[in-house]
Amino acid sequence: MSDVTVDVRGIHKSFGPLQVLRGVDLQVRTGEVAALLGPSGSGKSTLLRVVNQLERADRGWITIDGELIGYRRSGTRLHELKEKEVLRQRTQVGFVFQNFNLFPHLTVLENLVEAPLAARRAPRGELLAQAHTLLARVGLSDKADAYPRQLSGGQQQRVAIARALALKPKVLLFDEPTSALDPELVDEVLDVIRDLARAGTTMIVVTHEMEFAREVADTVVFMDDGVIVEQGPPSEVLDHPKHPRARAFLSKVL
Ligand code: ADP
Ligand code: MG
Repeated sequence: MSDVTVDVRGIHKSFGPLQVLRGVDLQVRTGEVAALLGPSGSGKSTLLRVVNQLERADRGWITIDGELIGYRRSGTRLHELKEKEVLRQRTQVGFVFQNFNLFPHLTVLENLVEAPLAARRAPRGELLAQAHTLLARVGLSDKADAYPRQLSGGQQQRVAIARALALKPKVLLFDEPTSALDPELVDEVLDVIRDLARAGTTMIVVTHEMEFAREVADTVVFMDDGVIVEQGPPSEVLDHPKHPRARAFLSKVL
């Protein structure tokens, strides 16, 4: 076991001629929260997607809890992992999307049981019990049999968080988890993430909620144009940004 859960080194990613990630290095220590900030188009979502192997990097490497992702080492050579191995590795990373992405045809409970069942994590009975525990944790015990369309956006996002936890991931990635929500529903979702932070969940959270970032993040990471231009404790990066792009961005949003 290493005390760095997510180790990102020299990641490059282009889409055609567009260089979206241009050498990203990021370490997230076990039990810590990194808040990832930066202007639209700076590459934040792409970075999360590479960490969760929804995209493959062109260059660089990533380990999750010490395990190289996407590749197998044999001697000095790297071989791409087969899809089955990639899927296993992906279950170690929880992803919470801006738009919830629940399965619309499944109940809340079924949404929580389906993925771990497919990953053969445990017998169905055990997963059902776990699902009820997770629903209680996000304050939705009474919604087990509801369908996603019957829930508010805030409730759906809390289900999505519970679903991400159901696989017992080593790290949780959040991509602007509250930006699709009506303002009055933002806090109930941030409260859940706050509780997870207190419980020592390792997380990377892309957010525009600066006060939230200040409160929960151990490290604030500022990205601009495909690179991390500044990172450090919230009090340093948010209050005394050094990089001109970080300064300009923060003066607009704070
Ligand atoms: P952010 O999340 O910081 O707003 P993104 O990572 O979503 O930034 O996008 C960075 C850049 O990469 C943007 O210019 C975006 O249009 C482009 N991009 C993202 N995904 C793709 C893709 N699949 N194909 C082509 N361009 C993409
Ligand atoms: Mg994005």
